[in-house]
Amino acid sequence: MSAVFEYPTSALEIARAVRAGEVRAREVVEAALERIASFDGALHCFLTVTADAALAAADAVDAVVAAGGDPGPLAGVPLALKDNLCTRGVPTTAGSRILEGWVPPYDATVVKVVAAAGAVAVGKTNLDEFAMGSSTENSAYGVTHNPWDPNRVPGGSSGGSAASVAAGLVPLALGSDTGGSVRQPASLCGVVGVKPTYGLVSRYGLIAFASSLDQIGPFAATVADAAALLDVIAGHDPADSTSLEVGLEPVSRQLEAGVAGLRVGVISDFLVDASPSCVAAVRAAAEVLSRAGAVVEEVAIPALMLGLSAYYLVAPAEASSNLARYDGVRYGLRVDGPDAAQMNARSRSKGFGPEVKRRIMLGTYVLSAGYYDAYYGQAQRVRTLVARGFGEAYEHFDVLIGPTSPTVAFEIGAKTQDPLAMYLSDLYTIPTNLAGHPAVSVPFSLSEGLPVGVQVLAPTLGEGPMFRAAAVIEHGADPGARGPIEPRLAGAVR
Ligand code: GLN
Repeated sequence: MSAVFEYPTSALEIARAVRAGEVRAREVVEAALERIASFDGALHCFLTVTADAALAAADAVDAVVAAGGDPGPLAGVPLALKDNLCTRGVPTTAGSRILEGWVPPYDATVVKVVAAAGAVAVGKTNLDEFAMGSSTENSAYGVTHNPWDPNRVPGGSSGGSAASVAAGLVPLALGSDTGGSVRQPASLCGVVGVKPTYGLVSRYGLIAFASSLDQIGPFAATVADAAALLDVIAGHDPADSTSLEVGLEPVSRQLEAGVAGLRVGVISDFLVDASPSCVAAVRAAAEVLSRAGAVVEEVAIPALMLGLSAYYLVAPAEASSNLARYDGVRYGLRVDGPDAAQMNARSRSKGFGPEVKRRIMLGTYVLSAGYYDAYYGQAQRVRTLVARGFGEAYEHFDVLIGPTSPTVAFEIGAKTQDPLAMYLSDLYTIPTNLAGHPAVSVPFSLSEGLPVGVQVLAPTLGEGPMFRAAAVIEHGADPGARGPIEPRLAGAVR
């Protein structure tokens, strides 16, 4: 590689240099593959690395540059895909045994869109099975280690994507966020993670978990890189019936706009149970915004604290229905039986892990006759209260801030025996999904050597002001609190 070009570096710098002909996409992708080869044996961010396809895609980008064309805004940028995004010809497991060996016949819309923008997918990342979890420990293929401390989880469910960016294996990654699965691992790994407005990014080809909540979002080391990726993936897709028709003004262009006069609410309900270091980060970020000219005030939105219980009825209900398609016939694993019903039961018993089974049973129960109104119906009413609580707050504020996660990254194994403790990891991220709003986690400070993220929340299509606030917070953050870092691998338990 040219002597002046270092890897890892930012996505925007790579795209600029590739488009200018200063470095070849192939060299960049080779550097990414080398870094994956050095570190991923210990970290286990990737379930599949598509080295040959990546090099071929890089060569195609270089050919466009050589011919005087423009390969796009993410030219030559190595990118990781959460393994619940369908990739044509490349195994896609969703972290589950039931999809072992399944090779999708089509690409998710986002996969096509990032490739068309010149990005180069280098592989598929580890996740909690069907994106159900907060630590990547529910993956059927083993846990991913946090690059800041290999004995800690990277968060989840998009833990492989978050860790791959934090470790500098790739500058960009995609994940999915149903209740916090982009933002929480971003916070625990010291990277930026965005959950866009529901419907802004196509879900076509995303393996469904809870369809009224699922949304695909970017991971990056910087706010500007995350904005560049969001601008590429946002947009209407006729193949997704929930895709919004309205466009969004590119957020990349608004990053320098500052926050003068922006009304920022600090969600006081989120400061009660969060750890002291997470509370301190939010207060310091509020101070940064205030010094930059924002009008900052505390606001109580008690309805948000009801979100978690509503989510754990709505999300399993939708999941139980979405996961009915894994019947041993159409996809992946089949365990034979004397008749179709037995084959179906055996395939599902063997193919699904314990957390997925728990959700299917819970979801089926809350939808059953006699319990539907008491549980599912009630949860939908509470969902409305959460949206209303936000709605009232956004009459007075442009954006809200709070912790992303109640704690820093916890130790591997610390919460696996206690599902409720695990669920509480998403206490502050879930309300956003219930309301369909956007939010972003920005790395802000360190607590005992581990990164702490601050969350910026906004109303529907409020990504512009949200990114303006995020950029200012990033500017005032501890630069030592964000990736990419040299992974700390000593003493890893495996
Ligand atoms: N941790 C939450 C859950 O287990 C959220 C997961 C997600 O956003 N995919 O459901």
